[in-house]
Parts: sequence; C-alpha cells; structure tokens
Amino acid sequence: GNQNRLKAIEKITNRAPNMVDKPEPLSKIWAEDVFNLHKMEEALPKNAFKAIKKTVQTGCALEPATADVVAAAMKDWALSKGVKFYSHIFYPMTNITAEKHDGFIITNSDGGAITEFTGSLLIKGEPDGSSFPNGSLRMTNAARGYTAWDPTSPAYVMHTANGSTLMIPSVFMSWTGEALDKKIPLLRSISAMDEAGQKVLKLMGETDTAPLNSSCGAEQEYFLVDENFANARPDLLLAGRTLFGAPPAKGQQFDDHYFGAIPERVQVFMQDFENKLYKLGIPAKTHHNEVAPGQFEIAPYYEAANVAADHQQLLMTVMKSTAKEHGFLCLLHEKPFAGINGSGKHVNWSVGNSTQGNLLDPGSTPHDNLNFLLFCGAVIRGVHKYGPLLRAVIASASNDHRLGANEAPPAILSVYLGEQLEGLFNDIKNGKLLTCADAGLMDSGLSQILHFERDPGDRNRTSPFAFTGNRFEFRAVGSSQSVSGPLVAMNTMLADSLNWIAEKLEVALAESENQNIAVISVLKELMELHGNIVFGGDGYSKEWHTMAVEERGLQNIPTTADALPAFREESIVKLFESTGVFSPIELESRYQVYAEQYILSIEVEAKLVIDMATTTIYPAAMSYLSQLGLTTSTMIGLDIALDTSLTSEIAVETNALMTAVTKLKQAVATHDFVDVEAHMHFCADVIRGLMDQTREHADALETLVADELWPLPKYQEMLFIK
Ligand code: ADP
Ligand code: MG
Repeated sequence: GNQNRLKAIEKITNRAPNMVDKPEPLSKIWAEDVFNLHKMEEALPKNAFKAIKKTVQTGCALEPATADVVAAAMKDWALSKGVKFYSHIFYPMTNITAEKHDGFIITNSDGGAITEFTGSLLIKGEPDGSSFPNGSLRMTNAARGYTAWDPTSPAYVMHTANGSTLMIPSVFMSWTGEALDKKIPLLRSISAMDEAGQKVLKLMGETDTAPLNSSCGAEQEYFLVDENFANARPDLLLAGRTLFGAPPAKGQQFDDHYFGAIPERVQVFMQDFENKLYKLGIPAKTHHNEVAPGQFEIAPYYEAANVAADHQQLLMTVMKSTAKEHGFLCLLHEKPFAGINGSGKHVNWSVGNSTQGNLLDPGSTPHDNLNFLLFCGAVIRGVHKYGPLLRAVIASASNDHRLGANEAPPAILSVYLGEQLEGLFNDIKNGKLLTCADAGLMDSGLSQILHFERDPGDRNRTSPFAFTGNRFEFRAVGSSQSVSGPLVAMNTMLADSLNWIAEKLEVALAESENQNIAVISVLKELMELHGNIVFGGDGYSKEWHTMAVEERGLQNIPTTADALPAFREESIVKLFESTGVFSPIELESRYQVYAEQYILSIEVEAKLVIDMATTTIYPAAMSYLSQLGLTTSTMIGLDIALDTSLTSEIAVETNALMTAVTKLKQAVATHDFVDVEAHMHFCADVIRGLMDQTREHADALETLVADELWPLPKYQEMLFIK
C-alpha cells in the first residue's frame, strides 16, 4: 500500500537514463527492416518487379505466378535477417492490431526440415477469428475470418525479445467477404473518392489523370509516467487513466512545459524510439513537449493514407514497448489526468494524385485555383452534411473526456477556413464573385483567387476541423484511436460531395460556355446549402454553442451514447451504400461493436472504482481515523480538549465514499435494457455520474489523510518526477 508509493518515489529520484547506442546515420538505417520497392527491385526479376510496382502504385490485382515470385524473394530477404516466423498483421474493429504467427518451416519425408513460403501462403492467412469483435456479422458456425495480403502496404520485420517476425499487412474479412477490419473500408473509401474525383477532374478538362489518393499525417500526443508509479496505480495499468487523484498544487497553469526542455530520460527514450521507427520506414519528423507536464508529441511526415494508417498503428505499438524498455508507461488515453490537458491525434488530410498534385493546395494559377475551390467546397459540404458521422467515428468512452470539455475541440463540428478563404467563399455565396457573364467582373474575381495565400496565417486552435494551408486538420480525433475510421469518413463524405459537384457541374457547363462561371455557380449553390458549417470564431465559447445549435442548426453531440446512433441514420446508411464503402449490414455491425466497446470500457472502469475505493482508499482513511481516534482518547483527562474537526471531516467523507460505492455497485449490476442504445445512455448518464461522485469523496480524502499513509502516487508526483 502506502509503502509502494514512497518506495516508488525513492527509486525514481535515484534513477539514471537507460543507455542506448549512439544513433546511426539515417542513410544507413532508413527502412532497413522493410521489404519496400527498393528491395524488391534488387531481389526480383524485371517483369515481376514491374508487375508488383504497378500493384503497389495503383492497387491493381497481381497474377498468382508473380505472387509466388514475390513470396520467395520476401522469404529469402526475411531469412537473411534471422526471421523464422511470418504473420499476417491485421486491423480489427478495435484500435489495436492482431496477428498470428506461423513458421516458415515444413518437414519433408526424410524427417528433414526446410523453409517454405508460397504465393498462396503470402496472399491468404486464416487466423481463428472468432475472438475478434464482429457485431453480428458472423454466425458462430461460420466464425472463420480470412486475412489477405495488402501489397500496397510494405511487409517488414519486427524484432522483439521473442525473436524476429516477418509482418505482412493484411485485410481481414468474413467467409462471405464482409469487412471485419479497418483496412477494407479505408481501401474502399479511397476508390470511391478516386472515382468521384475523376468525374470532376474530367469535367474540368483534365486529361490523363493519375488515380487519386488521400494523404495522412498524424500528430500523436502521449504521456509518460514512470513504471514505479504506474505499478502502484491499478487504474493506470488497467484503464490507462487515473480514476482518482486530487488536483496538484502545481498544475498546468505553468505553461512552461510546452516546447520546454525535454528531461534527459525522455530524450533518450525518444531517440531510441525514433531510431526504431526509421528502421521500419516510418518518417518520424518532429517531437516536442506538449502543453501538460509529462505530455509529449511525435509527428511523422505524411504518407498515403493506407500506409500512414498502418504506420500509425505500428508507431503506437513501438512507442509503448520502447517506453517500457526505458522504465516508462506510455499512456495513449485521451484523458489520463483529470484537470490536466488531454491527448489528441490531429489527423492532417489532403487529396491528390501524381498528375494534379495536392488538390487542396490553392496553387498559383487560376486553373489550379478552380480545382482547389471545388475540392475545398466538397469538404465544406461533407462536413456539413455528415458532421454527425465525423463525430461518431471519433466517439469512444475515453475521447468523451476530452471532447466537449473546455480544452479540446468542441463536440460541435464546424470548419475553419482562415479569414481570407472564408471571405472568398462568402463572396461566392453572396454573389459578389463571378455572378454575371461580364468579362470585367470575372477578371476581378479571378485575381482575388489568384492572389490567395497558401498559409491562412493565424491558427485557430479551437476548431475541430481546420484548413491549414494545403490540407485539413481533423483535431477532434483521440490519441488512442486508429486513424482509419476518421479517414474512411472523410474520404467517403468527399466522394459523395464530388459526385454531387460532378452532377451539378455537368449541368452548369452545359448551360454556360464559361468554365469559371459554371464552377462559381455550383459553389454558390453549395455555399447556400452548406455554408453554415464555416466558423472562424472561438469554438469553446458559450455564444458559439448557442449560435451553432439555435441559429445554424448544427448538432452538439456530447457523448458516445449520443454519437454512435448516427451509424443507423438513413442518410449515413445511404452514403456508405451508394459509395460502396459499407453495406448496411457491415455498418450495423460497426455500430454494434463500437457500442459494446463503449459499454464494456465504462463497466470495467466502474468495477475498478469500486475495487480501489473499497480495498485501497477506504482502508487508508480508516487507519488514519483510528490513529486520530487513539490519540484523541489518550488525551482525555487532560485539560485541553482536542479539536476533532478534521477527524469528523474524514469520517463524513469516508461514509460518503462508501455510500457512493454502494450506489455504483447497484448500477453496475443493472442489466435489463431494452436495447444497446438504452444501455449506452445508462453508462453515460448514470454510471459515469456515480463514478464521479465516488471520486469526489476519494479526492477529498487524499487532501485530508496523512501523506505517509496515502497509498496511491499523487498527481504532482506522477507528472513532475522523472
Ligand atoms: P502543426 O503542429 O503546426 O500542426 P506539425 O508539423 O506538427 O504541424 O504536423 C503537421 C502534420 O501534417 C505532419 O505530419 C505533416 O507531415 C502533415 N502534413 C503536411 N502537409 C500535408 C498534406 N498536404 N497532407 C497531409 N498531411 C500533411
Ligand atoms: Mg497540427
């Protein structure tokens, strides 16, 4: 109990950084553990290389014979790195990855052993998928899931203490081909967006256009806590956040942590971590301290969405394991410490191809500008029409602590464009730009667009969805989440908007000879319908909350229980069905899985609250009470009456704590709900409230009970001692 806490402090204050080897030059280690195109070119016959390169770059199918050749080369390369096992790594509907390891070994009739890896083994794996969440997608008699190699994301070797394994990024699907993972919908959403975007580009007179893809660069925030503290906090170990803890005297009011000096132990960890990322071909680019004490950020350079999503998952895995090697627990939870800034994952997202470049970059010619305005307009429409979907894909029990609180992006979705671009779109909406066929007017409009600056200047940090010069930044994504869900939602809403634009543009172009006028007329209609989503003010302010809901008709969606039902809304079911990203059955299964995960994580936390309050905090309060009581009784008979107000206060708080625990126990035992939505609301509205009540009394006791008797490491210790 209390001894653990005091011992932990002593251990940590005497601890030295882990020594790691001096980092090797980037040119030497970059992607050394990745079977990328470069390595394939060395290892494969010319024809096979040409075929696989085409598949990697365009996603087209690969001949089985080529797959055999690739498999053989992949095996040889892996064996040369000391690998004995391979694994199809996949991305189930949780935020973590799954894998099953198989040996390359087979035995022959003489009892000898050889290694084998064929194209069909590379292409398809078959894990026992029955333990992965699937909604109601698989009957138990068909509980098999299949993994299939995704050649567009490179295979790599993962070195761990248990040996080295060849990892093969894969999709995961049911016997009947339904998506059971986060990769299939991402790939589908990219195709949908490509198809719709090509229509628009063609109407704009672009010829010979390469396939469109989206890019993603994710900024990952995280906390580090010393393992000695973590080991004394069951809540940190099991729930990833503190369920108890009084606010520290020195909290975040000292913003000096931001971009401040990074403590030596952390610096050594970061160096080691980034070295590992480089070997895996992950382009770690920036790292710095974050707003809260003990909080940090890493941002790799952006990549194609599918690869970026796989790399993001890998980054989280490597970050956690490397932190452990350095004596830290790495917390990816969105709100590990109440009252201290939470962690997000800003998802920077853009769309483009190799012929047009980044279509969210305004470029420097009027023609580029028109494409840019159409794609940017498509995003505006998407966020307006499918805001509740964007809210649903970032909904989780943990991210609920962040969204809607006064620090992170608000739970109301809006778009920030920057002053200049917002003005431009408003001019289009209000008919001030290119509304008539008069050539003179047209010119003045165009020059306004031509001189549009790339960097919108001031950053608005209160917006959940902001244009940042050549990309949009979705800031409401949670630090523990896979980026796939948000990317799927963004790509799909964009596909839908581009389809709408293509339809309108075709008509407008038929009516007007002039492309500029046609484009602006479509954008004018778009802005009249959807311009309400554009907001450049303070997203945290009370006025915005009122204005957004009452005047603009936007939705404020505070909790996951409120957010997830969006997956069942007709417009969203139609969106996914029409774009081919999810069938209605697949979408319903997502709803079921995410709802279950939400309920489960709140119930796990509630049980932990009951357990810790009863077995750790109550005993600490009682032993202090008994000390105080003993002392008071030995003083009886003296002339001076002791002040027993502290004793009473502790007794009152202790009783209140246990009353709250009893209520929470009853709530957790409730099981008769009409449906999963009612159950979610019970978690959000009743269980969460009772957990907070319990915590309030426990935190009060932390400030009353003698320091040496308090069993749990305190906030200031966990946050400031490194
Ligand atoms: P900031 O903190 O100012 O938002 P960072 O440099 O920390 O900026 O992170 C920005 C992220 O956006 C990086 O991952 C970067 O690679 C990524 N990014 C930059 N340009 C694009 C783009 N066109 N599309 C997608 N991501 C981008
Ligand atoms: Mg950013």
